[in-house]
Amino acid sequence: MDTAVSYHQSLKTYRSPEEVVSVLQPSYPVFCVRPHKIRAIARQFLEGFPGEVLYAVKCNPEAHILDTLYAAGIRHFDTASLAEVSLVADRLADAKTYFMHPVKSREAIHQSYQQYGVRHFVVDHVSELEKISEIVADRDDVVIVVRLAIHYDGAVYELSSKFGATVEEAITLVQKAIHKGFRYGVAFHVGSQCLDGDGFVQGLELVDQVINQAGESPVCVDVGGGFPGEYTNSQGQVMGQYFESIRYGLQKLSLPEDCRVLCEPGRALCVDGESLITQVHLRKNNAVYLNDGMYGSFIEEKYKLHLPVRMVSTRRFSEQKKEFTIYGPTCDSLDIFPRTISLPEDVQEGDWIEFDRIGAYGAACRTHFNGFFADTFVAVENDFDD
Ligand SMILES: *Cc1c(COP(=O)(O)O)cnc(C)c1O
Repeated sequence: MDTAVSYHQSLKTYRSPEEVVSVLQPSYPVFCVRPHKIRAIARQFLEGFPGEVLYAVKCNPEAHILDTLYAAGIRHFDTASLAEVSLVADRLADAKTYFMHPVKSREAIHQSYQQYGVRHFVVDHVSELEKISEIVADRDDVVIVVRLAIHYDGAVYELSSKFGATVEEAITLVQKAIHKGFRYGVAFHVGSQCLDGDGFVQGLELVDQVINQAGESPVCVDVGGGFPGEYTNSQGQVMGQYFESIRYGLQKLSLPEDCRVLCEPGRALCVDGESLITQVHLRKNNAVYLNDGMYGSFIEEKYKLHLPVRMVSTRRFSEQKKEFTIYGPTCDSLDIFPRTISLPEDVQEGDWIEFDRIGAYGAACRTHFNGFFADTFVAVENDFDD
C-alpha cells in the first residue's frame, strides 16, 4: 500500500555513509537504513519458514521497518501492547496483529479485541485466562495461545524466567480454555539470539507433551523468535538450518492439516536494516567520547553483543590500531561501553565511526536521557562491508 512506498521514499537516499557525512557533516548520530537488507531476510523467512511469519514489532517499530517488511509481504505482526497494536493496525491495511504479551491490562484486551479485531491472546497463567474470558464476547472466535517456558542455554538472552508455564500448567490452561469455549494454540520462545536450531526442536517436544494431553488439537503452534543476527562475538547457524530443525521438530508432532505454524522473529528480520554513524566529540588519551552511548542505541553492547565497527573513511587513518575506552554523550559515568574497541591510533575529534547491526533493539531502546536522542534516518545503498 501507498504509505509504505511514501514513507520509504521520504527517506533521503545516499550511496554510502561516506556520502552521508560529506553532505550532512552530522554532529548528531545518523541511522543508515538499508531496506535491501530487510527485504532479503524477509524473503528468506517467507520462502523458508514452514508456516506464517509474524514480525515482533518491539524489536524495531520504526515506520521504515514496518513499511519495508509489509512491502516484502509480511502481513502478521506480534504485538505486545495496545500502542503496538494500533501502530500496526492504523498504518498497514489488512495487517493482522496478535497480542503476544502474557500480561495485559483489561483496557488493552478490550480495545485490541473491540477496535482492532485482535483474536489471538497469549496467556501463561489462569488469572490472565479469566481476565480475557470476562472481556471478550464471542469465545469461539478467539484463540488462547498458551506460552510454555523453555530453558534452553543455547540462547544469549533467556526469556523464560519471567514468562511461561510448565508443561503441567500449560495442560491445565489449555483444558480450561477449551472448557470456556476458546480454541487454543501453544507457543514458546527459545530465548533471543539463539545459537542453534536444537532449542526449537526441544520447544516442539514440550508442545507435543501439551497437545497430547489436551484432548483437542491446537489451531496454531507458535515457535516464537530467537533467530540470530551476526555479531562479532556471537553468530548462530545459517537461517536455513533453523528452518530445518523446525521442520524436523514439527514432523514428530501429529498436527492436523489446518493447524497453523507461526514464528515471531524480531532480531533476525531487522538487525541488518540499520547501522549508526556516530561522531567523536573528544579524544582524551585512550578514551573516545562519542555522541551516542548506553542510553542511546547501544543496548546490545551494554548487555552482551559486540557490533561490527568501522571508521567512515573521510581521511587516511593510521594502520596502527589501539584499544580505546568508549564513552557516550550523557553526564552519567555509567555511560561507557563495557568493552574497549580497537580503532586507528590517530582517531580524533570530528571523525565518524559506523556501527552495524543496530537495527535490532537499537533504535527501539534509545532514550531521551540528558537531551540526547538520535532521530535522523537516511537510506543508504551500499552494504556495511563494501
Ligand atoms: C521479543 C519477542 C520476540 C522477538 O524475539 P527475537 O529474539 O528478537 O526474535 C518474539 N516473541 C515474543 C513473545 C517476544 O517477547
